[in-house]
Amino acid sequence: MPWGNDLETLILPVFGDIERDREAIGKAGRILKEGGLVAMPTETVYGLAGDALKATSARKIYEAKGRPSDNPLIVHISKAESLNYIAEDIPEGARLLMERYWPGPLTIIFKKKDIVPFETTGGLDTVAVRMPSNPVAQETIEAGGGFLAAPSANKSGRPSCTTAAHVAADMSGRIPLILDGGPVGIGLESTIVDFSEDVPSLLRPGYISFSELRELLGNINIDPNINGAISSDIAPKAPGMKYRHYAPKGELKIVRGSADCVTAYINSAILKEQGEGIRTAVIASTENVALYDCPLVKIAGSLHNEEEIGKNIFAILREMDSLNVESIYSEAFDTPKLGMAIMNRLLRAAAHKIIEL
Ligand code: AMP
Ligand code: MG
Repeated sequence: MPWGNDLETLILPVFGDIERDREAIGKAGRILKEGGLVAMPTETVYGLAGDALKATSARKIYEAKGRPSDNPLIVHISKAESLNYIAEDIPEGARLLMERYWPGPLTIIFKKKDIVPFETTGGLDTVAVRMPSNPVAQETIEAGGGFLAAPSANKSGRPSCTTAAHVAADMSGRIPLILDGGPVGIGLESTIVDFSEDVPSLLRPGYISFSELRELLGNINIDPNINGAISSDIAPKAPGMKYRHYAPKGELKIVRGSADCVTAYINSAILKEQGEGIRTAVIASTENVALYDCPLVKIAGSLHNEEEIGKNIFAILREMDSLNVESIYSEAFDTPKLGMAIMNRLLRAAAHKIIEL
């Protein structure tokens, strides 16, 4: 259905303080209970929330995002007890994870109960559940009835939103309300763990790392489709993995190797492209930024502060679009804890174009 962009989108500031946020959250709750959509901050990225137990709300989310309807939504709850209402057969390993990481940036896949419509789960008989730690998200979930489907608030295929301005760029005219809680804390979507088979598996890397999960669970696999390799013959367990994602309009290439080799390679590529009149940019670490001979260099962050890189990466990909960059070279950020999650987003944004030196 074509969008007329005819809805007026209100942007209300929120502070994570019950008293100050009462009016904004009250409004969000009314919209959600009437089956409408609200964008809200979470600690990972901004979410586009609708009532997870209403098929019509789930359909609205797919429409507003332009998301294929077989790409399931994550259900957000604000109290651990709510889980029993939507999920069954909760395995011991999942309980361990919930005790350690909820509320927080971890999503767990369970067998769903009938109350959860197939529209929310993209036709699957499993449901993805997360309990966010952001107080605005928690209050909004409460106000909206306790169960909010809330995928990332970007238009399908675009980088996730880490500020309310990103949400407004994608959703203005499509939703009635954006709650503006400022820039998010983490900047990468939640880690997803699946418990539908004997050995749990990591479906999407995030702030909670694979080694932390392995330490707690003992045994955990990495889903072979984790990086959404386009050529893979194996059906992905997280259906979202098969879609092109996070892509800027310019062509993104990742260059991996020693700092000397990477900067030399990128500098010679820039020189050639500038000669051809191509608008080129670099995504660099703080450590290497001075080594590039390019008018457009964006700093992702220090290799010694990977949280900074995680927080910045989506905003930089969006900035590339607003600067009309046609060709982008990024360093590989293979940092110890978040490297797997950061590189997962970058690889998919680059449609797997990686130059190994
Ligand atoms: P987003 O909401 O944009 O963070 O994307 C949610 C991700 O969770 C998608 O990649 C989905 O494929 C994945 N997901 C949601 N529900 C399920 C489920 N029941 N089984 C497997 N993956 C899921
Ligand atoms: Mg998403």
